[in-house]
Amino acid sequence: MKTINIAIDGPAGAGKSTIAKMVSAKLGYIYVDTGALYRTIALFISENNIADEDIEKSLPNAEVSLKFEEGAQHVYLGDRDVSALIRTPGISMEASRTSAMPAVREYLFETQQRIARENNVIMDGRDIGTVVLPNADVKIFLTASAEERANRRYKELSEKPNCPCYEEILSDIIERDHNDMNRKTSPLKQAEDAVLVDTTELDLEQSAEAITNIIREKLDGRE
Ligand code: C5P
Repeated sequence: MKTINIAIDGPAGAGKSTIAKMVSAKLGYIYVDTGALYRTIALFISENNIADEDIEKSLPNAEVSLKFEEGAQHVYLGDRDVSALIRTPGISMEASRTSAMPAVREYLFETQQRIARENNVIMDGRDIGTVVLPNADVKIFLTASAEERANRRYKELSEKPNCPCYEEILSDIIERDHNDMNRKTSPLKQAEDAVLVDTTELDLEQSAEAITNIIREKLDGRE
């Protein structure tokens, strides 16, 4: 039976993962965070000090896999659960840099397509609606102003020790947006048939509700 595939793309810090998790819990779909796959490759490259020219031939040794435990996604490098380790500013930047490499994107392409073939999914990333799942049932492009995204990240991090300052977070976000939108392979852009949702003025509940409504309308309209 054909599975239902929902694609959510957008820039860093737009709230894709939090919102997609809320919506997938409501709809009973699996939530797939593809950024975690790129982050895990970045961790593999940096832990093993792999030079750029050796990345392509080293990728088959990476053994990246996803497991879904009680609805939550865990990402593994070999038999190690690295879900928490990949959430550092250093890995964010390394993922942003290495995800521009065609060999890295090609390596993760089949993994993403297979999960969507086998499950009803809400998959978030940068190129899901344009490249990975061009025939997705619903496509959403989720965005917010860079300042609002930096503000949200700052609030999230401000409780933790060694929190970077607001200006640093904002400049990281702007740099990652620039890398994602300007790379040659699979740049971040809104698919022609994606619905644009700007969450600058919306809180999480409102954003999740807006997206759930879009999905329900699209899926109902096909029946
Ligand atoms: O979504 P997240 O910020 O965790 O993603 C980490 C990095 O992985 C992004 O900055 C982006 O460069 C890259 N990425 C990508 N394509 C995706 C998902 C993430 O290039 N589908």
